[in-house]
Amino acid sequence: MKLIAYSKALYSTWMYYAPDRILFDCGEGVSIFLENRVFAIKHVFLSHGHADHISGLMGLINIRNNAMGDQEKELRVHYPAGSHFVSELIHYFARTNRRLQYHLEWIPLQPGDRVNLLPGRMPRYIEAFATVHSRGEPSLGYNVAEVRRRLKPHYRGLSQDEILDLVRAGRRDEISEEYVQYLFSYGGDSVPLNPALVQGTEVLCHEATFLAEEDRKEYKHATLWEAIEVARKAEVQKELIAFHISSRYRGELAAVEREIAQKKLPFSVRLIPPDEVVTLE
Ligand SMILES: [Zn+2]
Ligand SMILES: [Zn+2]
Repeated sequence: MKLIAYSKALYSTWMYYAPDRILFDCGEGVSIFLENRVFAIKHVFLSHGHADHISGLMGLINIRNNAMGDQEKELRVHYPAGSHFVSELIHYFARTNRRLQYHLEWIPLQPGDRVNLLPGRMPRYIEAFATVHSRGEPSLGYNVAEVRRRLKPHYRGLSQDEILDLVRAGRRDEISEEYVQYLFSYGGDSVPLNPALVQGTEVLCHEATFLAEEDRKEYKHATLWEAIEVARKAEVQKELIAFHISSRYRGELAAVEREIAQKKLPFSVRLIPPDEVVTLE
């Protein structure tokens, strides 16, 4: 999984998820950093319409029209249905960008909606889920989901040869079942996510605006410790990526990382520091 991420609470958040060419949120600075790699982006998924998550759209839409690259490549921007701020932006772009060379599509989503990414034997899709952030501004999180196949529990004791014999005898559907694996979950801005919505995900991106509960004045964001608790309850398989960290904590992150290491969690924890673009492989 390759991820390029920038996130500083209040200022800007964007994450480019390379495996499916998805930009999650589009804060300021994304085009400046990615330059003509913006042409790799196929889909944008916005978590909500606050400025720190959408202020890079003007640059992205313009650069895709003018920089060196495939200027006719379609761009699909998904956003929470009913977002007042995004609706205003759509009007703005419709009035000011009449001569776009490419098809720009705006797609409103509700919790539970799915967007297909890859067809085939192991189809992939994005599933939107509800988050709780700001009154009056709808917000969504997104799971990258893959449909997989596994042996039904009753058949798991069989040897490879026995399984092959059953498959050759045309009994594949009888001995195996489909299941859905979440590969990557992006929560956007939110109070602690409902763990059931990201259950078993390999990688969870959970916001962690605050390190200390007492710094939180309004209940709109999560603390790092709440994010870790969500990851534990959701049984995250590989990694928790904590983002949207307030810059007030920039001097404290190394100490916090040591504190987390002592907890011996069953997944790794990665903090996105508020001052740098981070590339994760
Ligand atoms: Zn934010
Ligand atoms: Zn917000």
